[in-house]
Amino acid sequence: MTKLSPSVPRIAVYPGSFDPVHNGHVDIIERGCPIFDEVIVAVLNNTSKDPLFSIDERVEMLREVLAGHPRCRVQSFSGLLVDFMREIGARTIVRGLRAVSDFEAEFQMALMNRRLDPRVETVFLTPKEEYSYLSSRLTKEVFLLGGDLEGLVPEAVLERMRERVKRLK
Ligand code: ADP
Repeated sequence: MTKLSPSVPRIAVYPGSFDPVHNGHVDIIERGCPIFDEVIVAVLNNTSKDPLFSIDERVEMLREVLAGHPRCRVQSFSGLLVDFMREIGARTIVRGLRAVSDFEAEFQMALMNRRLDPRVETVFLTPKEEYSYLSSRLTKEVFLLGGDLEGLVPEAVLERMRERVKRLK
């Protein structure tokens, strides 16, 4: 096990697609901020998926939503998360656990990341119950069918979703 000296900043990385960011993500980020010196929200540039928002739009929305969080930065990355972490000097991965159903995949990913870089630890945080059923996929589905997302997605994101849907019509 690696010990960090008190002078080494505790940098955590919160990785995901964030297509788009919703209040469950924001809740996890806000829980991480007091625990770490810095939380880097790492937006995966995943070319194999067909996202609603481009990587630049996702980064922009997150920056807008997190503007009041000085310990929080938003960056995009591609390739292996552990390589990105090495580049920025981070040792901790933050992941959100919504329900038992998240556990298996998260457990496998945590062990794989540890195998790829034994210095990396994964920390799991749980959101407020009211966000525990929320996912980006579900918010997109509900929105495209005309459902109300008030209180589940930041207002700035809702505005972008409305604009995107107008363009898609
Ligand atoms: P989503 O699952 O919403 O599509 P991502 O794939 O971008 O989001 O997930 C990024 C991280 O955020 C993962 O650790 C995921 O478990 C976590 N997460 C996603 N939704 C929630 C939520 N409602 N509450 C807590 N954590 C969440």
